[in-house]
Amino acid sequence: DRLREYLQKRAPFAGDEKASRLVVLAGPTAVGKGTVSTWIRENVPGVLLSVSATTRAPRPGEIDGVSYYFVDDAEFDRMIEAGEFLEWAVVHNSSRYGTPRAPIDEALADGKSVLLEIDIQGARQVREAMPEARLVFLLPPSWAELVRRLTGRGTETAEEQERRLATAEVELAAQNEFDYLIVNNDVETAARDVVELMK
Ligand code: 5GP
Repeated sequence: DRLREYLQKRAPFAGDEKASRLVVLAGPTAVGKGTVSTWIRENVPGVLLSVSATTRAPRPGEIDGVSYYFVDDAEFDRMIEAGEFLEWAVVHNSSRYGTPRAPIDEALADGKSVLLEIDIQGARQVREAMPEARLVFLLPPSWAELVRRLTGRGTETAEEQERRLATAEVELAAQNEFDYLIVNNDVETAARDVVELMK
């Protein structure tokens, strides 16, 4: 019975070769997940970079529908109720972020690869929903370098930076839950390593 239950749970993703083209890229704040995904978007055709919905306010230069779908709390609630998310989570104790499910199913059905750049809580949910997904944890060369990258970015207030570093410490402790660890010394090398996993 337990085997049947397991197989039923897996049934929607029975095409394992599909799910294994889905790569989740997680890692602490400011480690460079964004630059790695941007490199892939600009250099590797046939990869869908999932666009998340979020309740956080846009930063200068961010474009609705490209960086994120910027939605209010009511719309985010509606998307949860309608089952539109593959996963969602409250990140850094502030805003909600979620991965819309439909574009991913479509891309995988079309033979494309999919890259999700999400937090660790989200990565855990994807592993539950799609066990064949490949979970990658991007590591900074060192803690000092991570702090330097976060403060150097200058897009967060001191209070927000502190909150993000606290989350980063917790997140780094979870790295052993991941299938692959990639150190982000150099964006292109790290990005090529991620792309290798989509084949
Ligand atoms: P930021 O506010 O800097 O754009 O993102 C903050 C954090 O939210 C990052 O760690 C990012 O990976 C995570 N995040 C972005 N989109 C999603 C999502 O759809 N789901 C989850 N669980 N986390 C996300």
